[in-house]
Amino acid sequence: MAAPLPAPQGADNPDPSFEDLIAARPALRMDAQDGLLMEEVPLARIAREVGTPAWVYSANTLRRRYGALRDALKGAGLSASIHYAAKANDSQAVLRVLAAEGAGADIVSAGELRATLAAGIPAAATVFSGVGKQAHEIAFALAEGIFQLNAESAEEIEMISAIASGMGLEAPMSIRVNPDVDAGTHAKITTGRAENKFGIAFDDAPELYARMAALPGIRPVGIATHIGSQITGGVSAYRAAYGRLAEMVRDLQARGLPVRRVDCGGGLGIPYRDEVPAPPEALAGAIKATLGELGLPVMLEPGRWIAGPAGVLLASVILQKQGTQKQGTGRRFVVLDAAMNDLARPSMYDAWHGILPLSPIAAKAALSPADVVGPVCESGDTFARERPLPMLDPGDLVAFLDAGAYGAVMSSTYNARPLAAEVLVDGNRHAVIRPRQTPEDLLAQQRIPDWLMAAGTAPLAS
Ligand SMILES: *Cc1c(COP(=O)(O)O)cnc(C)c1O
Repeated sequence: MAAPLPAPQGADNPDPSFEDLIAARPALRMDAQDGLLMEEVPLARIAREVGTPAWVYSANTLRRRYGALRDALKGAGLSASIHYAAKANDSQAVLRVLAAEGAGADIVSAGELRATLAAGIPAAATVFSGVGKQAHEIAFALAEGIFQLNAESAEEIEMISAIASGMGLEAPMSIRVNPDVDAGTHAKITTGRAENKFGIAFDDAPELYARMAALPGIRPVGIATHIGSQITGGVSAYRAAYGRLAEMVRDLQARGLPVRRVDCGGGLGIPYRDEVPAPPEALAGAIKATLGELGLPVMLEPGRWIAGPAGVLLASVILQKQGTQKQGTGRRFVVLDAAMNDLARPSMYDAWHGILPLSPIAAKAALSPADVVGPVCESGDTFARERPLPMLDPGDLVAFLDAGAYGAVMSSTYNARPLAAEVLVDGNRHAVIRPRQTPEDLLAQQRIPDWLMAAGTAPLAS
């Protein structure tokens, strides 16, 4: 399958208008008075109350998207469970909203298991994925009664067998198969090619599955795959991968090995710019067409599809810097108080995020191209190039769209920039769900060796 080409920029494919961006996002509305609203709450009000940068999530978008996925799977006649990939957004409030909808979880660390348990998602509805599960993490997951561990190597299977039998338990285990299909997504988030670090090679899987059945402390329950993230090229890559899984299930069953369920992974993409990802009904249809005849329960591990469109990152304009002759006359830099340490996706994956002014006046003003940048000392700290934006004054507010997944979770404190605040909106209510970190918080986490303390401080200059 050919990788989709990056969206060509320019006259043939201009950036979507502010109106189009808003129209495609049901949680957002431009109010003539209050400016951009998320659900019923003016985002400018949140920015005033908590400052910027700030992440804001729409609870009803999380609920609606979880429900749409569940309905699509049910509509296809599948017996399916949804395990939200907590790494996309592991905020307690977000996890609680999804827990209340009945979501299970997909976790990749003990920290995430602590988070999902604390939010009320039972271990019995949680899958543990990842190439490097540590012994203490495996023991913790088993002690909590984890639903399934997805093994990614022969070595890990032996390790889990030893830990589980030492605890007098049986680990419910699935093998993560690498189907060697190209998900057609960004190289850094493609995971189902033979050369990627993930999963067990297709041809090695049956033998390892038999090995699991023979080992103490292990109960083989099925096979799993996850071919990549932000998949937008239709469902052909899914069909190819799931077709191979179906083939493998039949092979295993023919060998007399028990297979109870198939874990279909996550990866369904969302439209950031003008991508047209498959709707959940198409994904459900692809599962039904390939795996349906097996009559086994299936699992899905969506992260981005549920949380991405539910969040925005609010930022303030620090200043507009006009390019000089040498930088290219007419080049305009909009310098924001948000940076790559907050939202890493543009610098990391060349990702495109919609950027909307919050003010109804700015949203209607004449547009001209601007490079949107943060204050971090790296040229990579660029959110957008030649983006049509109105003239912006210091203090003007903008929102980065679709920042609910792989946003706050990937933040760092690079440049000693404290982590931004997070806010949940639910109808006409809103609340801070993580206060902004303070510079004092950053210092308080550090320790100075006593021999350096004893030396005291040198004068600045001698
Ligand atoms: C990251 C991940 C997911 C979620 O991916 P999305 O693209 O956010 O849907 C699901 N399963 C596994 C094993 C993952 O590593």
